[in-house]
Amino acid sequence: MRQRLRRWFAAHRRDLPWRRVPRQPYHVLVAEIMLQQTQVWRVEPAFERFIERFPTIAALAAAPRAEVLRAWQGLGYNRRAVFLHECATVVCQQYNGVIPPDYAQLRSLPGVGDYTARAILAFAYEQDVAVVDVNVHRVLSRFFELQATEADLLPLPTVHRLAAELLPRGGARWWNEALMDLGSLVCVRRSPRCAACPLARCCASANSMQPAPRRQRQEPTYRGLPRRLWRGKLVELLRQRPVWTLQEIACALFGTPTSADLEWLEALALGLHRDGLVSFRQDGRVGLPSPEEEAAKTSAL
Ligand code: SF4
Repeated sequence: MRQRLRRWFAAHRRDLPWRRVPRQPYHVLVAEIMLQQTQVWRVEPAFERFIERFPTIAALAAAPRAEVLRAWQGLGYNRRAVFLHECATVVCQQYNGVIPPDYAQLRSLPGVGDYTARAILAFAYEQDVAVVDVNVHRVLSRFFELQATEADLLPLPTVHRLAAELLPRGGARWWNEALMDLGSLVCVRRSPRCAACPLARCCASANSMQPAPRRQRQEPTYRGLPRRLWRGKLVELLRQRPVWTLQEIACALFGTPTSADLEWLEALALGLHRDGLVSFRQDGRVGLPSPEEEAAKTSAL
């Protein structure tokens, strides 16, 4: 399996900007946070712009929060920008600007969960750590056990164990990347390309799975749109102009808002405020986080 995958990877490896050498832990951190809920093709240009604007972790930590949120434009799930900014601040304050090559220390950083910590250790520091994203989860599930439909997967702890056992010592970087690329390019969620797969001869699910029925996403909506999209629209308005009244925002979003719209919008803005994405000025207007509010939060980190 390793030899076949390695040969395939040598020919089909994705040339992504955060994979360039010399590999920089800061680039890996930024990319992994961006990739958490955004597709690779959208992350690539945003990553290049972001790194050009904040070339080092110190530059990111020193930037105002509002500027980081502006640079996050187009990626969605803006809360990740807040976590990334807080993470850069902590790394500069507590680790002299060096992202720690240690799992427990990484997990203590804002916005860094198990997956991101493992990805930094494997991709930035080449430690022997298995990284299981949705692609790896899918490839290993299908390879080791016949899956009835394209949506079926092995339990995550089982895949973590398999991934750790398979990991070639000293080869964490290429191995994890190769599995991810195979899942992204060949062993895709719907209609996997088994005929072009280097693992087909020994894969338990090759050419055997049934298509899966489409699942409806369950999420809170308002006026027919998911709440997360309204959050994104509100932050997008604040990127365009420093401060707004809630009435102005309501008019921009709804045209002629009702009192129910205003009430709902206020609750939405309060939620964004709690997440560090917007601030309420003293006159009640709303904007991206102000430097004073940010300073208070930074000193609390
Ligand atoms: S043979 Fe098909 S199911 Fe198996 S790993 Fe390759 S693409 Fe996925």
